[in-house]
Amino acid sequence: MDAGKKDWMSLSDRYIMHTYGRSPVTLVEGKGCRVFDSDGKMYLDFVAGIAVCNLGHTHPEVAEAVCRQAQKLVHVSNLYYTVPQIELAELLIEHSFADRVFFCNSGAEANEAAIKLARKYSRDRFGEGRHEIICLKDSFHGRTLATLSATGQEKFHKGFEPLVDGFRHVPAGDLEAMKQAITEKTCAILMEPIQGEGGVVLFSPDYLPAVRKLCDEHRLLLILDEVQVGMGRTGTLFAHEHYGIKPDMMTLAKALANGLPLGALLAREEVAISFTPGTHASTFGGNPVACAAATVVLKTLLEGDFLSNCQGTGRYFKQGLEDLAARYPSLIKEVRGLGLILGLELKVEGADFVTNLLHKGFLINCTQGNILRFTPPLIVTKAEIDLLLGALDEECRKRL
Ligand SMILES: *Cc1c(COP(=O)(O)O)cnc(C)c1O
Repeated sequence: MDAGKKDWMSLSDRYIMHTYGRSPVTLVEGKGCRVFDSDGKMYLDFVAGIAVCNLGHTHPEVAEAVCRQAQKLVHVSNLYYTVPQIELAELLIEHSFADRVFFCNSGAEANEAAIKLARKYSRDRFGEGRHEIICLKDSFHGRTLATLSATGQEKFHKGFEPLVDGFRHVPAGDLEAMKQAITEKTCAILMEPIQGEGGVVLFSPDYLPAVRKLCDEHRLLLILDEVQVGMGRTGTLFAHEHYGIKPDMMTLAKALANGLPLGALLAREEVAISFTPGTHASTFGGNPVACAAATVVLKTLLEGDFLSNCQGTGRYFKQGLEDLAARYPSLIKEVRGLGLILGLELKVEGADFVTNLLHKGFLINCTQGNILRFTPPLIVTKAEIDLLLGALDEECRKRL
């Protein structure tokens, strides 16, 4: 091992806890949809940090905003006002259903805040005993103990029991089961508008409106986890816009600051007022540098044709995957998705596809064992998509 070129993977194995199954590549640089490993090899990135770097890697204006803010003020306590946080809050509120925002650092923390606020609001408004939250099977809401308990996948629970009390899971997309699960203890429904980790699962167009109606009838809060599908991923700023409904709360994180750690809980005024001084907090939440980055992200997404272009690119990509599915019916079960979150459900294991595409210079993700998930930067071009489709075609052809 010479001084300039360390064996990063062995060092990682030696020093970092083994919580991730990592691909054998050390990434050192990125630009747009491209990333480069420590040997200088280039990869087209169809993961983008799992729907994080929506504007692409090292976006120049984000980098500039980060540098500028880092030289001005990196952190003070939330005991004081800071400008980037206020500017970002105003933009988020102007472009959403919400009246107020709470800033944190991750998706799990945003959901954790939503769970706490739902309980607090319900207690303030309806009294004790009304604290249960209905969640969906196959959902993913994070890895803290409460958000893990909200997550509807047993494989993530194993070994961490006892879980936090107060979460019920019903089959995703089944309105009748949700109705049956509502009791006098229920205070909220928490769900993703599109299930990301669960395998890019879209619901029928009338499901979300029906859930909204159910919430209204039973005076329950509708909490939408838009951590993965918010911030332009589906071709609208927030995914729920496709379904013509508004939640009472929404959580954001992943793409919010294009790779800097930032999460947010947005809520209607009536709900938000239950968080009074001292009831919730985060040391780093709303950090000036992360907020400066997020303000650039939001302004860029809202500029001109950015989002409608993303819809067009998404349609092109989806059509390409559908053509592939038509060519290889023995290998591909289904294509799903909206905008630039797309899933290709295989009839075979997906791990080899991920490995082989890595060798060919593409980063893709596999979830649930057999569902290839594509979440490229929203600036991905048709030419880049064609390269991936070509590589996928090759992979399929050799399996026939
Ligand atoms: C990634 C994700 C989370 C968790 O976010 P972290 O930042 O990893 O805590 C929660 N909900 C959804 C839908 C996600 O995709």
